[in-house]
Amino acid sequence: MTTFEALGIDARLIQATDELGYVNPTPIQEQAIPVLLSGTRDFIGLAQTGTGKTAAFGLPLLHVIDAAAKHPQALVVCPTRELCLQIVKEIELFKKYMTGVSVVAVYGGASIGLQIRDLKRGVQIVVATPGRLIDLIERKAINLGEIKYVVLDEADEMLNMGFQDDIEFILKNTPQRESTWLFSATMPPEIRKVSKKYMNDPKEVTVGKVNTANKNIDHQYYVTTAQHRYETLKRIIDFNPGIYGIIFTRTKIDAQEISERLTREGYDIDALHGDLTQQQRDRVMGQFRDKSLQLLIATDVAARGIDVQGITHVINYELPDDVEVYTHRSGRTGRAGLQGICISIVHAKEMYKFKQIERINNSQFHKLDIPSGKDVCRKQFFAFMDKLLSADISHGDYETYVPMLAEKFAEVSKEDVLKRVAAMEFDRFLKYYENSEDLNVRERSKKDFNERGDTKRRDDRSDRQAGGRGDSRKEYSRGGGGYSRLFVNLGTKDGFFKASFLQFILDMSDLKKDALGRIDMKDMNSWIEIEKGAAQQMIRSLDGKSYKGRRIRMNDADSGGPAGFSKKPRRGE
Ligand code: AMP
Repeated sequence: MTTFEALGIDARLIQATDELGYVNPTPIQEQAIPVLLSGTRDFIGLAQTGTGKTAAFGLPLLHVIDAAAKHPQALVVCPTRELCLQIVKEIELFKKYMTGVSVVAVYGGASIGLQIRDLKRGVQIVVATPGRLIDLIERKAINLGEIKYVVLDEADEMLNMGFQDDIEFILKNTPQRESTWLFSATMPPEIRKVSKKYMNDPKEVTVGKVNTANKNIDHQYYVTTAQHRYETLKRIIDFNPGIYGIIFTRTKIDAQEISERLTREGYDIDALHGDLTQQQRDRVMGQFRDKSLQLLIATDVAARGIDVQGITHVINYELPDDVEVYTHRSGRTGRAGLQGICISIVHAKEMYKFKQIERINNSQFHKLDIPSGKDVCRKQFFAFMDKLLSADISHGDYETYVPMLAEKFAEVSKEDVLKRVAAMEFDRFLKYYENSEDLNVRERSKKDFNERGDTKRRDDRSDRQAGGRGDSRKEYSRGGGGYSRLFVNLGTKDGFFKASFLQFILDMSDLKKDALGRIDMKDMNSWIEIEKGAAQQMIRSLDGKSYKGRRIRMNDADSGGPAGFSKKPRRGE
């Protein structure tokens, strides 16, 4: 095992990493640092989150920049505000013993005026989210003319979020760039394209397997029906008394509704989604970080880049469409050498998708029985008793009260005391689970899970076996049955992946995912199957709106134009 000294890093940086308790470099650091210290070689690091990527580029950046020159020399671009702040925080720690080096974070949702002022102070390292950076470039508030080093962190997430054009713009506008360092958890073809176009013979390093789930994460899943999803979630939470976790939903409506419902039922939870103001977001994140919230429920977009230590569980309330999204979600746990659990609540109908994720992740997923009410009670009961036994009684003046207590309880046996304590804590709980039903979907034949077969037949069969009341879904119609097919002039060229596109149209229309059927995405256009009753709402919500400055056009694909739906003027027209 090598050391930071052996990698050739500046002694002042080593002093700082020593203080942070970094004994040895992590594998990505060991492979990246010697290459990056040259400052001239392009580099691609494929590594999961939590592997020490920030130090892998942060230490070399501090080593190669010229502290005497007071202009931006290094640019780190990352997908979210949280990650941006996290990176700056780490770089600040690393540069503790270096003088004259400044680093600044620029990100959306905060005062641009203050950030412009910070930039004018003569910083060498700028850490930015793409949108705000473009804004600053357009206002001529930042000079990229002398940027020598560009780091793209979590590049796949940035592309997932639709930042491809912005990234290319940034790369095109750094004419003095001597090297580009790209870090990503996965290597989708879009990243390969960017690297081919803008990088020169990059040294590529893979830590672990690309698209492989972190070894510290145990992947578990529970199979249930659509109408039992919420109850299953509750069982999972109740079965894990010490849980500190993030629950992922696909839409912000789900995140909000589930959060409200769980809060009403007494859980410590709040939601993080795109509708929150920056202030609300900060409040929720602050509470979650300091653990006054035990659970966070979030959409993928809102949760991107969140790096909170010690997350015990990630729960997929629903499976994402893309394997990459699954990898990113699960990567919130099992960080920095800790163990983590990623649980997916899977509808019988989604099993084929789940098998796909499992195969591509190349790790074994464990199917577990959804705990019965009795299992949950037992688990909670013993967790409580353990807490009781380990309660710290060394500080209070309990001895004063012992004689009084002894007198009061003279006639009550120890067993009875315990029972009473348990009753106080558990009565409501026991009652709730007294006659709870079995939420598992059983007796699925292996054939159903393993063979893809015909989609429609599989879906019908799953519905029957799942007894899916809320999921009496319907036929895939291709214009018939209960579905309409909508055309929209947005596609993968607009930076969408299926999951982000799905989220976008649901967020815009406030509709639920259940209303949708198949989505076909092409470069420039997409086709969406949607329940007939919901089609009009979707069209009203999207048609005529703008996306990245382009007017969205949406209409009924099978009626040759916007016919078939009301042509009444839209609100505001
Ligand atoms: P990152 O992948 O950059 O988000 O890092 C994950 C966590 O690992 C952070 O909390 C870092 O402070 C920590 N870390 C990074 N490098 C090392 C190292 N060489 N030794 C111990 N901890 C580290």
